[in-house]
Amino acid sequence: MKKLILFILLCCSSFLAVAQEIKIIDKPIIYDSTRIRLSLEYLKQRHGIEQETPTIQPKIIVLHWTAAKTFSSTFNAFNPSKLPNGDRKDIATVSSLNTSSQYMVDRDGTIYRLMPDNYFARHVIGLNYCAIGVENVGSADFPLTDAQLKANEDLVRYLQKKYKIEYLIGHYEYTKFKGTPLWKETNPNYQTGKTDPGVDFMRRIRTNLKDLALKGIPAQ
Ligand SMILES: [Zn+2]
Repeated sequence: MKKLILFILLCCSSFLAVAQEIKIIDKPIIYDSTRIRLSLEYLKQRHGIEQETPTIQPKIIVLHWTAAKTFSSTFNAFNPSKLPNGDRKDIATVSSLNTSSQYMVDRDGTIYRLMPDNYFARHVIGLNYCAIGVENVGSADFPLTDAQLKANEDLVRYLQKKYKIEYLIGHYEYTKFKGTPLWKETNPNYQTGKTDPGVDFMRRIRTNLKDLALKGIPAQ
């Protein structure tokens, strides 16, 4: 019961804190007791972190693209707490927690928040425990738009201020954290190949956010 009250309080305070600075639409995916249990399991088994609430202390923002063409198709894919049976065999063996992301940006630049942004989401191996994920509707064949670039810039600025974010990376860069203190994954062979959200998108957003002095991949 205590946990449930704490969860509701955290949700409310976090939802209220948004909305004031940039336009964010709350469109929550299911974050029920199953998702909480599987997130706590993931934190413990994969990241080696034991805690009572599925919260994170964000240090890294990871930008993604969805590889699906519509907001709703990705929303529907993220919505169940568990990976659907038979889906994503490459990642299902290590946890049945479904993938998700704290934010998703549609083609027109609309920013949707899918859960409180200090809640655990499975979107980047080794770093989920300290990373906020921002999905963008698009793919290599369906390049991200200027409106998405602007929305990502605004969102990074907002989150950097809120959490003192240190790193901004594209998903394709995540394996560069291997061997650094930030990397926490119990199986050294567990990784997947990624290209999102594209080198060009990262180059452009880094140019536009130069004043924030965010770090990219760590020095090896
Ligand atoms: Zn990704």
